[in-house]
Amino acid sequence: MQRATPLLYDVVVVGGGSVGGLLACALACSPATSHLRVAVLERAEPAPLHPVPAAPEARVSALTPTSVELLRAVGAWESVAGARATPFRSMCVWDNAGGAVSFDAGGVTFDAEWSAAAGEELAQPVLGHVVENRVLQGALFERMGELSGSITLHCPSAVSAVRFPAEHSAERAQAGAPPNWPTIELDDGTELRGRLMVAADGAMSSIRQEAGLRSFAYEYGQLGLVATVETARPHDTAWQRFLADGPLAMLPVGEKHSSVIWSTTAEHAGELKALSDEDFAAEVTSAFNGGGEFGDRANLPPPCVRAVGPRGAFPLAMRHAGCYVSPTQRLALVGDAGHTVHPLAGQGLNLGLYDAAVLTSSLISAVESGLDLGEAATLQGYERQQMAANVGMSAGLHSIQQLFCNPLLQNSALVSARALGMSLLDNTPFAKDLIVRAASGPALDLSRIGGDGT
Ligand SMILES: Cc1cc2nc3c(=O)[nH]c(=O)nc-3n(C[C@H](O)[C@H](O)[C@H](O)COP(=O)(O)OP(=O)(O)OC[C@H]3O[C@@H](n4cnc5c(N)ncnc54)[C@H](O)[C@@H]3O)c2cc1C
Repeated sequence: MQRATPLLYDVVVVGGGSVGGLLACALACSPATSHLRVAVLERAEPAPLHPVPAAPEARVSALTPTSVELLRAVGAWESVAGARATPFRSMCVWDNAGGAVSFDAGGVTFDAEWSAAAGEELAQPVLGHVVENRVLQGALFERMGELSGSITLHCPSAVSAVRFPAEHSAERAQAGAPPNWPTIELDDGTELRGRLMVAADGAMSSIRQEAGLRSFAYEYGQLGLVATVETARPHDTAWQRFLADGPLAMLPVGEKHSSVIWSTTAEHAGELKALSDEDFAAEVTSAFNGGGEFGDRANLPPPCVRAVGPRGAFPLAMRHAGCYVSPTQRLALVGDAGHTVHPLAGQGLNLGLYDAAVLTSSLISAVESGLDLGEAATLQGYERQQMAANVGMSAGLHSIQQLFCNPLLQNSALVSARALGMSLLDNTPFAKDLIVRAASGPALDLSRIGGDGT
């Protein structure tokens, strides 16, 4: 059987999740790269953005102000904001360990008013926005549809084979020979080739594995249980309590709902999933409010009335690829394909969105200097910048998880030191200032991203 002529693209993005979608939109919207032909392959059609269902879906992400700016730059934020993106204005973190240690003193509260008082530079009306994953992906899909002059969406599409070039052959390509670029075959026989392939296909990335790029994983042996609950009153705080097994967090979504993310053992997660809607809500309320000196404080999370909709559970792991780029294979990894972190600080998706922004900047620079999109000089700047940032964040989050939740580290001296540390932090505006800055996202240069919002 004669093969169909391969479809040639400048960039082939495998995975149309939020990170792959943002990358494609950023390339299509930026004047320097809007002429590039970008293909996005996504195996599952996302749920339509509208109508917005009455109850939020359980899987949400807390977007930092930097991530919101990125979505705004590519023209997707308005759609996200119109589909129940919910701002939170304060963040409250506390510890469960009781006994001889007072954790009342260990409560740490960041709020936007405090940030504003700390200096104009930090003044942010909100600390972040809680957004349902289906909304984010749906809005980016809509935007990719509007940018169809640059972006070709292959969805739903299933990859049946991937071939990487044995060696870099820019000279052959320039000489007009058949380009020795990475090739993807779809189930329907379509063949696509790209100057650059980007793996945005999530934590278990098959593209990363096909390319033979190694990834280190630390399995926490726990599940992240996610659920939507109705609360007795509206609130605009991100609450997090460190329990013996892991952190329990609650984020506002819309007027009367909140999203619960409970990191716990598989056994406990199974029990929680099996509870009735009312019993689950009671369990969350009691886990937040029961015991410990914080329980006496006035600013407790609102009680949960009932759970709404299905509950999900995800295995928790810190994962990191040894490299994010492979110039000989003309490949770059972004988002969860390159790294996953513990959800305790809600940073996983944000890190992926920053990857997409930094890779876009590298590709803009390459186009402006006449470099090939797949070559080492183009890709290594992206890897250098993001590897350093993501390794630092992964290590920081892992240390916090271990400090609060590793059973071997729960002796009384360490627990006392932890309480003292939280108390000191709560009373040290300078340190809070640093944390608020870090939690808001890095200072990315967004000046060249977006702008051509056609
Ligand atoms: C319990 C939990 C809570 C979390 N909370 C937060 C939070 O509050 N804030 C935050 O920032 N992050 C959070 N995260 C992390 C966040 O969900 C992920 O980091 C984010 O979804 C990664 O986006 P991605 O686009 O890289 O990958 P994914 O969202 O996994 O998208 C990958 C896409 O690729 C597609 N795909 C895969 N293989 C193929 C293929 N062969 N062909 C075509 N398409 C393919 C998939 O269908 C999917 O659409 C949380 C994670 C968990 C587990």
